[in-house]
Amino acid sequence: MSTRSRQLLDEARAVIPGGVNSPVRAFAAVEGDPPFIARGEGPWIEDVDGNRYLDLVGSWGPLILGHAHPAVVEAVVEAARRGTSYGAPTEAEVRFAEELCAAHPALEMVRLCSSGTEATMHAIRLARGFTGRDAIVKLDGCYHGAHDAVLVAAGSGVATFARPGSPGIPEAVAGLTLTAPYNDLDAVARHLENHDVAAVILEPVAGNMGCVPPLAGYLSGLRALTREHGALLIIDEVMTGFRLARGGACERFGVEPDLVTLGKIVGGGLPLAAFGGRREVMERLSPAGPVYQAGTLSGNPLAVAAGRATLALLTPEVYARAEAIGERLDRAIRPEIERRGLSMNRVGSMFTIFFRPEAPRNFEEVKTCDLEAFGRFHRAALENGVYLPPSQFEAAFLPAILTDAQVDRIAAGLRAAFDALDRKG
Ligand SMILES: *Cc1c(COP(=O)(O)O)cnc(C)c1O
Repeated sequence: MSTRSRQLLDEARAVIPGGVNSPVRAFAAVEGDPPFIARGEGPWIEDVDGNRYLDLVGSWGPLILGHAHPAVVEAVVEAARRGTSYGAPTEAEVRFAEELCAAHPALEMVRLCSSGTEATMHAIRLARGFTGRDAIVKLDGCYHGAHDAVLVAAGSGVATFARPGSPGIPEAVAGLTLTAPYNDLDAVARHLENHDVAAVILEPVAGNMGCVPPLAGYLSGLRALTREHGALLIIDEVMTGFRLARGGACERFGVEPDLVTLGKIVGGGLPLAAFGGRREVMERLSPAGPVYQAGTLSGNPLAVAAGRATLALLTPEVYARAEAIGERLDRAIRPEIERRGLSMNRVGSMFTIFFRPEAPRNFEEVKTCDLEAFGRFHRAALENGVYLPPSQFEAAFLPAILTDAQVDRIAAGLRAAFDALDRKG
């Protein structure tokens, strides 16, 4: 089958490694070819061949208001007319920082950067600089971006130092990252007892191994343990921030970290991220303190405009609507999922259908899913107009702007995809 997308993929592979600028976009995990996207509007995306899909990826999380929200577009255009970048401080950054600190319970001060990768990299450096310790604890299956300290293989066992997760990461660097299974407090406690740990970093609701919520008492347990051992708690809210509540998972679960990282929604679809937290820790950051951090495009006027416009629209009604949409879809598809011996985890407007009978609690359990069946399901969903993340190890996101009719259409598309599995065996 020769489509425009297929043609573009061939052309892309000649000049971009693998044809994509970020690996999961290649659809390798579902053995398909990615549609090349021409435009997005509201909950819809349209590919270069004219196929339209209800988009449950939302640029991997940022688009809680859907594509090309008029208020966001207008804010960006208006900002661009006054210049796209100055590399100098602006009033909008101050107002944005105030708005972020007001919105998120853990933020007393905040520093802007351009990607979630940068946010966690700098938060970890800051935690190391603040505590004077080198080791960090990271949880198997949590993703914190593509830098050396956190790109460390999962599943290497509770008591061992982790191995690098990619060629090019020195053993000496990966060796400072201790790993533990998600939802296992004892494993983290052992690391804290046996090593001088600067920080424990985690996703408060994991999204990057598929949606895996924290068990009751897990987040508060990590808070108590880190406090007891003088380590900082870094809650990576790049995915959950402004998604699970205006104050993110920290508000939703009542957890009080030392540092928080934000990204995705906070930039309204433009490259923007942030890290922040306790004043005492943040004031160690350059130029107020000695821990260096910088970025040419940090606080970029276009990104700040998109972020502020987005945050201004994220009212309590929007979060109530996001919950209602999640519940509506859940009611419509869960019986079918369970009837087929599959499972689903959902927290608000993020969810994953797992191709295993019991809802997983950690990465080891996620890895037992039937990935081949997931791949077939993913392709069938696409054929039925529903654009799901192309991997079992990713969470789907429902935009808060969906109408009930659109939610029902998604449910019908997913049910049709399950039926197609039966037909294809
Ligand atoms: C997406 C993500 C990151 C990385 O953000 P980028 O902007 O892709 O660098 C970090 N942490 C979490 C939890 C994420 O979901």
